[in-house]
Amino acid sequence: MESFPGFPNSLPNRWLGNVAMQSSQGEIEHRFLILAPVGNDATVTSRLLNQAEIPASPCRTIQEMIFEIERGCAGLIVAEEGLGSVAVPLIGRAVQEQPSWSDLPIIIITTRGERMETDQKKLLLFGPGGNVSVLERPFRPLAIINAAQVAARARQRQYQVRDLMIEREGILSDLERNVQLRTTELRETNAQLEELVYSIAHDLRAPLRSMQGFSSLLIEQYGHLLPAEGKNFAERVIGSAEAMDAITLDLLAYGRMARSEVVLSPVSVESAWRAAVFQCEKAIEEKNADVKVIAPLPIVSAQAVILTQVLANLLSNALKFVPEGQLPKIVLRSEDLNDRVKLWIEDNGIGIPPQYQDRIFRVFERLDGARYQGTGIGLSIVRKGVERMGGTVGVQSERGQGSRFWIELQQAHSQKNH
Ligand code: ADP
Repeated sequence: MESFPGFPNSLPNRWLGNVAMQSSQGEIEHRFLILAPVGNDATVTSRLLNQAEIPASPCRTIQEMIFEIERGCAGLIVAEEGLGSVAVPLIGRAVQEQPSWSDLPIIIITTRGERMETDQKKLLLFGPGGNVSVLERPFRPLAIINAAQVAARARQRQYQVRDLMIEREGILSDLERNVQLRTTELRETNAQLEELVYSIAHDLRAPLRSMQGFSSLLIEQYGHLLPAEGKNFAERVIGSAEAMDAITLDLLAYGRMARSEVVLSPVSVESAWRAAVFQCEKAIEEKNADVKVIAPLPIVSAQAVILTQVLANLLSNALKFVPEGQLPKIVLRSEDLNDRVKLWIEDNGIGIPPQYQDRIFRVFERLDGARYQGTGIGLSIVRKGVERMGGTVGVQSERGQGSRFWIELQQAHSQKNH
């Protein structure tokens, strides 16, 4: 421990507002720390400040002063003699390590002849912008009291700024916590709803199958006893049960997409597309569609089954939503976006007016229900699947101008480079 010979160790508390006596943080932040190792500067200064009701704490060593700076103070009063080769860098570091709101006031007491040296130390310590004032001996009592009052006012404003910053941080972190809480709650509610939809869809299939089965049996075994109208009614029951079964199957597929674990690995878009084309083969043949790929196709970070289902749903829509009598023309191409990639599925179909382009990705949203069969779930599955693989979806289209659906995913090779 560096100590200063000649520094009075036992000064009366009533003058000095000794360190130990100041208990509350408010009191601590109002006191001046005084370092005056030789002579009676510490005593005189403390007494003067105390008389003006400015609390002051003399520090016996530079380490004690550094420790007390950490706890808080209105400013430092340091005698020139205290700024030795050990003290200067220590105070300098303590000042630099102060938080952003702090501009610690420092009053240096010097003797006229030493002024030059003090200025140099001052520059070394605190840089040209440091909050340092210099008092030359002999000074009048009022001079030190004034200097301390000015410094104390400036310091209290700094502490106010600190308090505001703490308050703002508190409000911000409260807000952040609330947003996080709400997001988690919403996610949970969403997951519960999806779970509910899944279990309802699952449970509906058994009664549906029995409706289908018994209506078929009714026609098969008792069809000859029924008038034509009765037979027609039974056929309608079968038709409706089949339509409902398609919906429940799609809801189950959507639920699986939402619930199942997704493990990403490099997947060749070309092979996923081949599997999708295979799934839609019947419609491609029936419609005599022209399905083309513009090479090269990338390797993406995906789950093969999900990517195949996403592409199959987009392809089946592209095959379905064409004007009567028109041959579907469908193109798959990719657009390189550095570490990500956009896959475009373009068709020559009926197109989608811009105002509906967001809606169609929601469950049960359909625009041409009367003309084209469907459940309104296909694109929801597309979106959910792509999002679960960390990607995004969208569409560019005008009514009657064909559609260009896109999905954006992470390229697999770029992941290796990171
Ligand atoms: P579905 O095909 O069962 O109706 P989707 O969720 O797949 O349900 O699509 C929702 C709606 O978006 C469709 O009903 C249709 O109106 C529109 N749509 C989807 N794909 C296309 C497309 N390629 N061209 C034109 N309209 C489309």
